[in-house]
Amino acid sequence: MSAHESGWELVCGLEVHCHLKTRTKMFCRCALEYGAAENTHVCPVCLAHPGALPVPNGKAIEMTILLGLALDCEIAEHAVFARKNYFYPDLPKGYQISQYENPLCGPGRFVVPTGDGDREIGIVRAHLEEDAAKTVHAGGATGRSVGAEYSLVDFNRGGTPLLEIVSAPDLRSADEAMWFLRLLRQTIAELGVSDAEMEKGTLRADVNVSVRNRGEEGFRPRWEIKNMNSFTFIGRAIEAAFRQQVAAHEAGETLVQSTYDYDPDTDRLTVHRSKEEADDYRYFPEPDLVPVEPRAELVERLRGQLRERPTDRIRRLAEELGFAAAAELVTTGNEAKAEALAAEGVEWKAASAIAMNRGDFLLENATALARIVQANVTREALDEAFAAAANGPIDAETYLAQTAVGDESELGPIIDAILAANPGQVETYRGGKEGVLGFFVGAVMRETQGKADPKVVNRLLLEKLKG
Ligand SMILES: [Zn+2]
Repeated sequence: MSAHESGWELVCGLEVHCHLKTRTKMFCRCALEYGAAENTHVCPVCLAHPGALPVPNGKAIEMTILLGLALDCEIAEHAVFARKNYFYPDLPKGYQISQYENPLCGPGRFVVPTGDGDREIGIVRAHLEEDAAKTVHAGGATGRSVGAEYSLVDFNRGGTPLLEIVSAPDLRSADEAMWFLRLLRQTIAELGVSDAEMEKGTLRADVNVSVRNRGEEGFRPRWEIKNMNSFTFIGRAIEAAFRQQVAAHEAGETLVQSTYDYDPDTDRLTVHRSKEEADDYRYFPEPDLVPVEPRAELVERLRGQLRERPTDRIRRLAEELGFAAAAELVTTGNEAKAEALAAEGVEWKAASAIAMNRGDFLLENATALARIVQANVTREALDEAFAAAANGPIDAETYLAQTAVGDESELGPIIDAILAANPGQVETYRGGKEGVLGFFVGAVMRETQGKADPKVVNRLLLEKLKG
């Protein structure tokens, strides 16, 4: 019996951090530039020179409110920046400017569409803070300080505006957590507030995991897995934490709230350090900054910028395409291409399949491609058209001239010959394995060098195989 079947329930919440896509840093005018040479975007404020004073980035505040509105959060009338005190070599001030008691965005909710209807995941808060600088351990094999030739602190990242979104512990499986994060990522990216790319480090998540018996009230001690930057590893770490915690509870061990590291090689979590409590950080209101009090007009103007959310579009498209296809289309960025083809008269299901499988064509070719797709052209012509469409404007007439062979008198003898040459496959098909049809279609297409009309080939094959 697997742990999932044994009456234990997973309790998981995420703390998602993303770099805001502002032109400048959170509290100074240094430019944000990914991949710039080390320590080329620094100033007295982000290097924490004595007496240098922070000035908040208005655009970052607007972006945070915009995201808050998309998550149905209450927008604070009075938000406060606070100092979170701790020592780290890449934190020159000795504290991070964050938000504690009065975040910009209060409770909200994120309604996640699934194959079995909607799941509402609570949003506890979304607040604005600054990122720390980045420490690079160079020359070693592991990228850790041990064995490195030298360590370098790159202050370019120090002071980057960072939005933190905290979910309620409402996620009940690793798959659900990953799907929630994927949709949240899509929402953030579409609002234009962040690239939200894990590979670039502009999206990271802390994962909180505990377990309890089904029906049990309250929460047991949780494990925090920090700074995860891969969807796959997040899913695997949640599964591993679930297994280890269930085993520990069943062995009668007492769990304590701690920070854990996930090792993908061993697929196990090991304790990193015992968890700090909020008291350890000695939060207090940042004396160098006045509270943020967003005007109602600003909030309404931002609300006016909201477009149909990806979660809502999935629900709408699922009626045409089914949930799985709609979910894939929206979260892979191929939706605009399917829409462009559908707008030109291609049936939605076909448009979606084309966008997913031949997705790299330029949108300006949608009209020409829609004509070609709907005409009776050879598969070869179709392949050529899509290959060309990725590189520049195409002329539909070139491809429309290459019509497919749909003549029964021409295709009939070819099909007869192929069936006669493959008596075993014919037997298999007639024995109930209808998947073998694809083998015959493929053989006909090869024989005709892609010129046969697949619709006619399918119809003739079905007739002839019926025997
Ligand atoms: Zn600066």
